[in-house]
Formats: sequence, C-alpha cells, structure tokens
Amino acid sequence: MQERVALVTGAGRGIGRAIAVALGSAGWRVVVNYQSNAEAAAETRALVEGAGGQALTVQADMGRGADRERLVQQTLDHWGRIDLLVNNAGMGVPKRGDMLDTTEESYDRVMDVNLKGPFFLTQRVANAMLQLLPQGRVQDPKIVNIGSISAYTSSTNRAEYCLSKAGLSMMTSLFADRLAEHGILVYEVRPGIIETDMTGGVHEKYDQLIAKGLTPIRRWGRPEDVGAAVLAIADGHLPFSTGEIINVDGGFHLRRL
Ligand code: NAP
Repeated sequence: MQERVALVTGAGRGIGRAIAVALGSAGWRVVVNYQSNAEAAAETRALVEGAGGQALTVQADMGRGADRERLVQQTLDHWGRIDLLVNNAGMGVPKRGDMLDTTEESYDRVMDVNLKGPFFLTQRVANAMLQLLPQGRVQDPKIVNIGSISAYTSSTNRAEYCLSKAGLSMMTSLFADRLAEHGILVYEVRPGIIETDMTGGVHEKYDQLIAKGLTPIRRWGRPEDVGAAVLAIADGHLPFSTGEIINVDGGFHLRRL
C-alpha cells in the first residue's frame, strides 16, 4: 500500500493541496504538480511529508501538451507507476463579465486548462496504466476529475468556466465507460463553494448567500472536505461504482421548495 503513487494536478494550493495532504496521511507517494507558484508547491510537499507520505513537485502547465508529457515522464522515471490521477488543476475566468462580451482568447485558455488538458492527460495516463496493469506494477488504478457545480449551474458572467466543467463531466462518463473493462475506475468529485484563492474575489458575496441558506449545510466548504472524498475513492471504498459523481457541496445540488 505504501508504494502507491498519486499524480495530483494543481496541488500547490487550495483543493489540490488538501487532496495531496489527505493522500499523504494515508501513506501515498504524491506528485505535486503546479503551474507557477513553486513556493506554495514546496509547502505542499512539506505538508505531505509531515503527514507521513512522500512528495515530488513538478512544474507543468496543464494547457501545454509538452508540459503534460513531461509531467507523466517525470512521474514514471521517479516512481515507476501511477495508481491514481487526480485532475484538479483548474482556473476561473481571467475576468468575470457578461457572456455577450466573452473573448475567444479567454474561452480558449479556460478550455485548454480545464478540459483539453485533463482530457489528454487522462488519455496519456490511462495508456500508461494499461501498460502497467499486465506487468503487475499497479493493481486498481483510478482516475478522479474535480468538477464543479458550474457543470449544471448557469453563471452568465463566466460562461466558458461553466462550459469547461460541463465538458469535464462528460469526460468522466466517457473514460469510465472506456476503461471499466480494464479495471480502471473513473469518478467525478464535484465541489460546491469552497474557500480557496479561487473564490477570494467573491468571498463577501458568498458569505451572504450562505448565511441566507443557499446551501442546506450553512458553511463554506473547506478544501479538506474535498480531500476526504478523494481519499475515500483512492482507498477503494467505491469498488462497484464508476462514472459516479460525488457532490461535495453542502447539499447545494438539492432541489428545494
Ligand atoms: P486555486 O486555489 O486557484 O488553486 C489552483 C491550483 O491549480 C494552483 O495550485 C495552481 O497552480 C493550479 N493551476 C492553475 N492553473 C494551472 C495550470 N494551467 N496548470 C497547472 N496547474 C494549474 O483553485 P481551487 O479553488 O483549489 O480549485 C481547484 C479545482 O477545484 C479547480 O479545478 C476548480 O475549478 C475546482 N473547483 C473549485 C471550487 C471552489 O469554490 N474553489 C468549486 C468547484 C470546483 P499555482 O499555485 O502554481 O498557481
């Protein structure tokens, strides 16, 4: 068990960091990917090691194919296996604003990082897992995509983000379908409103909405809430489920009267 290797994208800060630390506390070896904040990634590495795991930091931009390939190669060169891929790295829109003014530049970048990158990284890692499986070098490999309530919640001031997360949800279904026969299970963990840098700019707005009962569980989500859900999947507690969506949203998704 202590040999298992997880590759967590965007693990320098926020939700990705909490996922990495949760895995570390269960003895996983964790690849901590980040885009540009090397200091934060080093802190995550120390936290993973402090929790009892091992960590390797690797810079790579999810929006760049060559970076994704290097990330996978470095992981395999260093530890020789990937048991778990967590597609967590993601970006909000560079600038919130009316979707009638959304630029192609913003659309392309958000889609590249939030959807195209995860798709091709998953394809690459799945192919690696398919090679490792018959060699007995991994046993129950899994893939977890960090989605969002934005997959089904319209926010007209960040349309491209919503589209990227809706696409990511179908990506979970597709890979779950394609990989089940090989014993690779695929899940979406779908956070609601989580207190991280990403939501820093709209903190007051969400404070008020939560206080008024937007979510049945009236508090902000914590990165650790998401980390706990990913760890449950990683540790194999959902063995007869694939393509499943795990809502980590304080009940936001419930229709209420
Ligand atoms: P965050 O606090 O902004 O942290 C984002 C992390 O992703 C950072 O470590 C960042 O690296 C990394 N990252 C960003 N762009 C990247 C790229 N192109 N390549 C590689 N890494 C990249 O975000 P978060 O709130 O933790 O969000 C994590 C995931 O959860 C995202 O997919 C987000 O869409 C999803 N989510 C968040 C919420 C929420 O309320 N916060 C709700 C639903 C879903 P650097 O540190 O190097 O910048």
